[in-house]
Amino acid sequence: MDLHIDKVLIDRNTIAQRVKKLAEQINSDFTNIINSEFHTNNTTPPPLIIIPIMTGSIVFLADLMRQLPIFMRIRIISASSYTGNSTTNQNIKLNTPLPDDLENAHILLLDDILDSGQTLTVIRQLLEQQQPATIKTCVLLRKRIPSAMAVHADYVGFDIDDNFVIGYGLDYNDFYRNLPDIAILKPEAMH
Ligand code: 5GP
Ligand code: MG
Repeated sequence: MDLHIDKVLIDRNTIAQRVKKLAEQINSDFTNIINSEFHTNNTTPPPLIIIPIMTGSIVFLADLMRQLPIFMRIRIISASSYTGNSTTNQNIKLNTPLPDDLENAHILLLDDILDSGQTLTVIRQLLEQQQPATIKTCVLLRKRIPSAMAVHADYVGFDIDDNFVIGYGLDYNDFYRNLPDIAILKPEAMH
């Protein structure tokens, strides 16, 4: 796998430090929101519901959730924004049904990377139709391009230049998700 890597863009230690900071902020924000809306003392407050967009956010989810000491559950959804081995964006396709029990829920929508912004925009709109109490969005990476910057994200791990990146859950043609760092592929590994 290392043979295919051009350079490491963000190493595993830097990712871990940033994920810890994001988790602290998310934990504090959702704890405040949920507690402020919850007035009785004798029952459990409602959970945070994390909705990760698979498969790219799988590693981010696993690391982030273990840093969140909050009452929570997960509702996985799967979407594809490009087909086969293409690296350009087309329309997004939902591969799983959306959860249907989100009325009054406190949601954190999680994705790996904000690029054209289509995935986050479309899925957010669909979830909002169920009238959740809170919906916040979190991406590990955001490209410094107008389409990505135009879409609001509440939590962003890193802003990166406009390169196609792999690793830490992000794939090229479903490969390289297991690389612990975020890296740029050699052009000859992309075909
Ligand atoms: P958007 O809908 O914002 O254009 O794209 C989001 C999705 O496209 C991501 O969840 C990811 O699956 C894919 N994507 C966009 N840019 C990259 C990239 O640089 N590397 C990889 N591996 N996937 C990307
Ligand atoms: Mg994805």
